[in-house]
Amino acid sequence: MTVVRLDEVTRVHGEGAAAVHALKGVSLAVEAGELVAVMGPSGSGKSTLLNVAGGLDRPTSGTVEVEGTDLAQVKDLAALRRRSVGYVFQDLNLIPSLTAAENVMLPRELDGVRAAKARHEAMGVLGEVGLAHVADRFPDELSGGQRQRVAIARSLVGERRLILADEPTGALDTPTGDEILQLLRIRCEQGATVLLVTHEPRYAAWADRVIFLRDGAVVDETSAPAVSHR
Ligand code: ADP
Ligand code: MG
Repeated sequence: MTVVRLDEVTRVHGEGAAAVHALKGVSLAVEAGELVAVMGPSGSGKSTLLNVAGGLDRPTSGTVEVEGTDLAQVKDLAALRRRSVGYVFQDLNLIPSLTAAENVMLPRELDGVRAAKARHEAMGVLGEVGLAHVADRFPDELSGGQRQRVAIARSLVGERRLILADEPTGALDTPTGDEILQLLRIRCEQGATVLLVTHEPRYAAWADRVIFLRDGAVVDETSAPAVSHR
């Protein structure tokens, strides 16, 4: 099953002389269970690609389908994102006044899940990322690596089937980065789909496929990269 499909997607930021063509006709299909790494220089359109794939941003032209639904036809994109799409932002976006568990519970509660059930689910994924013992701490009481894992837990809660991770290993030491990739890999084996932006060949090596972007276009694609640690 194709979980996310982009067909000739363009995205132009701004207008006139200031227009930036962030994506120039990108077509891409990612299947259930696939981990696809997106690589490319800064400014090549990686974040824009993730944003349009998850419905955080609308393409200027072309179509984006998530699980067979054309996102242009979806009125409540926020609800679709909360239910089906887990997003790890480059700058994490944890809410400082909420504990780790409360941050992870939030998307579920926004979706109408009772607090007790949401808490139970949050504790489950925090356990998966090795953070059950700090669930009641606030973000500023956690290390950088722990905060990153809270953001990952929030993207996984509620069995979301499409996980979009924008450099989730940025600023992590290698063992912690490897742990995060292992977690994402396990989710894929359980049927989730992951699009992962990374600069690190080491992490891209966990992917089934690597897509290279340059100036808003896919310029190369490799399958089954040499994998030494899987
Ligand atoms: P990457 O994640 O690969 O660094 P981005 O997708 O963030 O690339 O950006 C692609 C291009 O689009 C860059 O030239 C960037 O400056 C531009 N861009 C991204 N977002 C915006 C925006 N909101 N407004 C104007 N230009 C933008
Ligand atoms: Mg980016």
